[in-house]
Amino acid sequence: MKLEIAFLYHDLMNIYGDRGNIITMTQRAKWRGIDVNVSSLTVGDKVDPDKYDFYFFGGGQDKEQYTVADDLQGETGRALKEAAANGAVFLTICGGYQLMGHYYRPDKGKDIPGIGVLDVYTVAGKKRCIGNVIVETEFGNLVAFENHSGKTFLGPKARPLGKSVVGFGNNAKDGQEGAIQGNVFGCYLHGSVLPKNPHFADHLLQLSLKRRYGNVELAPLDDSIEMAAHRAATKRAYATR
Ligand code: GLN
Repeated sequence: MKLEIAFLYHDLMNIYGDRGNIITMTQRAKWRGIDVNVSSLTVGDKVDPDKYDFYFFGGGQDKEQYTVADDLQGETGRALKEAAANGAVFLTICGGYQLMGHYYRPDKGKDIPGIGVLDVYTVAGKKRCIGNVIVETEFGNLVAFENHSGKTFLGPKARPLGKSVVGFGNNAKDGQEGAIQGNVFGCYLHGSVLPKNPHFADHLLQLSLKRRYGNVELAPLDDSIEMAAHRAATKRAYATR
């Protein structure tokens, strides 16, 4: 089997260790004997919507988001919408998550348009939401780190990724974190999220392989080190918030 990964705006949208998610996806696939190819893409690159099984779109500050949003209003945005409609899997974090929605409204300056693949919108708040987080999801608990001023609200087509147990979550109001619509996942989970949440990584991997290969059984891995990291980060999250 082969897995094609697109690392969107790798040079602009990649903070707080977000690239670790690419490393985890690649390594967990390789350990199962799956070939992996990662294409690091940026502004001006052409995206072939049929090529990729898994797209990663990380976080970035408002300045980078303006640049990226411009690019997304053209051919790239159209390709990503087509890919999402055809079942490709997306993991999008923070600034990337916001741009998968309808728009991000910064504190100052004009709205930054998104591509509306997630039925969410984001408005900057006065207070930044920073700290370790725990989210209860259907894939198990996720532990990570958040740092955003944007407050994201879900429309009826998106469902939350989970319940915010520790941390601010989407908007510090409704107790929810992240959004899922089809195979598109958005969340505020930096850290990076996948290395210490291998159960979530495997869910995304399985889903990514489905498009070409149907239901694939993933051979179990020895996750003792990953789960030790998960437990340590969970303990720290409870202790620090
Ligand atoms: N500019 C966005 C915010 O602060 C995104 C930040 C990020 O990606 N970490 O809400």
